[in-house]
Amino acid sequence: MDNSQFQLKNLNRRLVLNYIRKNRLATKAGLAAVTGLTFMAIQKIIAELESLELVRKDLPQTGGVGRNAITYRVNEKYGYSVGIHINSFRTTVALLDLNGSIVQRVYLEMEHLPPSQERFVADLVDAVEHVVEASAIERSKVLGVGIGVPGPVDSKEGLVLMPPNLKLLHYLPLKRILEQQLQLPVCVQKDTNAIALGEYWHGLGSRYDNLVYLDLDAGIGGGLVIDGKLHEGSEGGVAGEFGHMIMDVEGPLCNCGNRGCLEAIGSGLAILRAFSQELAGHPEHKLYLKRNSLGLQDVLEAAAASDLLVLHLLNKSAFYTGIAVRNLINLFNPQIIILGGILIKGYPRFFEIVKDVADSRKMKGSREQVILVSEPSDEMGIVGAGEIVADHFFEDVALRQR
Ligand SMILES: [Zn+2]
Repeated sequence: MDNSQFQLKNLNRRLVLNYIRKNRLATKAGLAAVTGLTFMAIQKIIAELESLELVRKDLPQTGGVGRNAITYRVNEKYGYSVGIHINSFRTTVALLDLNGSIVQRVYLEMEHLPPSQERFVADLVDAVEHVVEASAIERSKVLGVGIGVPGPVDSKEGLVLMPPNLKLLHYLPLKRILEQQLQLPVCVQKDTNAIALGEYWHGLGSRYDNLVYLDLDAGIGGGLVIDGKLHEGSEGGVAGEFGHMIMDVEGPLCNCGNRGCLEAIGSGLAILRAFSQELAGHPEHKLYLKRNSLGLQDVLEAAAASDLLVLHLLNKSAFYTGIAVRNLINLFNPQIIILGGILIKGYPRFFEIVKDVADSRKMKGSREQVILVSEPSDEMGIVGAGEIVADHFFEDVALRQR
């Protein structure tokens, strides 16, 4: 076989494998129809994937008329990944199978941050060893460790840069240190990229190829999947830094050094800051005395109690987020935009406002049909972190020259 034949074979194998992964179940006839390959070609690829034990026959579907076609699915027990989702409140470490199902998980509470980077890394290593041991699978089946950490991140070097809310981790070379200590491959991504991957393979985006994830939390970030691939941009890229879209050139100063970024206007921390300032002029307010030590939870509780000062700030944030979503739709025309994070979870009106604002600014004559949904679950951070490993693994398998 010459090189171009090899490449074609690899490409076909990747097509088949990705289709089975994404759709969970597939028949040979179905695969032939969606890939455009012949039934014979599909048969050969499936036989090969079965002999590698990467794909297995599923239990026959019942209820249909006549003989049921055999369906295939990924052999989820072929290997496992460790997913780590680092967050300033709580870090989760989990063992996942190749379907993204969580087998074991432990939490590291972050309120009392360990005193040093060494201690934090040691805690992570212990947690990884613990989830592997507790699951009673062979360590040789662990394919690697995927980590989602607050950005910015140098994903190539696996280096945490300067997450504003997690000073302990500044310039921590997570990949290098953990690879030494665990003797496993380690991949590091910014948390919102991991969530976007989780949504793409196993979440609300699992039926689509192009998606945007927008995270509305203490900060504002996002992730972008284009044609089934995480879009990281060029070297040192800032792709997906949706929080730093400039919404008002004369707006408030942002952590990034610019003025009027979406994050400076509408993030949880921006709302918190503005709320404290407004409270200073309202000594009758019940949170007046607490105004310099408020947390995001206080903001959301005040919203639930219909506090007008807070509602105004949250609604303003949702309005600007709606404008940002409109810009994202016009830039990327994704099939789906998923909104997540504490502002979405904690204030139900937020999503409605974003949707109304984004819809009302549709381009004249546009036929776009972008689906806008909210993700109330916290699970995708950890599922997506594991998926970083699974994604690399399947890519390697598909391209391996046999
Ligand atoms: Zn900014």
